[in-house]
Amino acid sequence: MHKSIIIANWKLNPGTASEARLLFSAVKKGVAGIRNAEVVVCPPFVYLPALSEIRRAASLGAQDCFWEDKGAYTGEVSSSMLKEFGVTHVIVGHSERRNWLGETDEMIARKIKAVLKEKLTPVLCVGERERDSSGDIPAIVEEQICTALSGLKKGEFKNGIIAYEPVWAIGTGRPDTPDDAARAAIFIRKIVKKVLGKTAGEGVRIIYGGSVNAKNAASFISKDIRGMEGMLVGGASLKADEFVQIVKSISEI
Ligand code: PEP
Repeated sequence: MHKSIIIANWKLNPGTASEARLLFSAVKKGVAGIRNAEVVVCPPFVYLPALSEIRRAASLGAQDCFWEDKGAYTGEVSSSMLKEFGVTHVIVGHSERRNWLGETDEMIARKIKAVLKEKLTPVLCVGERERDSSGDIPAIVEEQICTALSGLKKGEFKNGIIAYEPVWAIGTGRPDTPDDAARAAIFIRKIVKKVLGKTAGEGVRIIYGGSVNAKNAASFISKDIRGMEGMLVGGASLKADEFVQIVKSISEI
């Protein structure tokens, strides 16, 4: 059984490096004694060097990377560059990047390969824009996973993470229900097994994201079945106290 993992996605926040240091220090202090949950903080790229010097109780992640190591790719950052600053996890395919920047599943597949090449942990984000009244996990989620993982060898991605983030739940205050999220986790694990075999399917960690807060976080972690094994937290990760409460509530399960 894996430890639960809680990943903070700061997105384009906070506005200054000194605020970033303060927020990171408060999170680090708050989670310092917690042993049975893993915490990863993903700040904007520019704050990574400063935070890498003060990291400890929390690991550092990035919110994206490019698929090439270096070259004529203006504005991009590679996974090898991230690794130099102590980054261990890289979010790939967040719905905001798919939406605002036109990221496709094919681009995401190339990014995942680049992350794995550096032996970093990819956090692949998938999720449907709308849920129809049947409540079924839409086929788009299967398509996103199959394309993103295409071209990987069997067993590869066994240490990867898939964040199920229904787009309609992100930043809306309308989270998925814990039951539906657990069903999504089971469905996603089946797809990974189908695409990359049993080792990858058993190894992959599936986490939930979308309007998680200190009150609802623990309800998404399944005790009896292999469902959600962590959280990707956006808005609530910008409030140190609330984020620490989320980590504590999950670590106590
Ligand atoms: C996210 O953007 O990954 C996210 C889960 O955001 P929020 O927690 O604000 O819904």
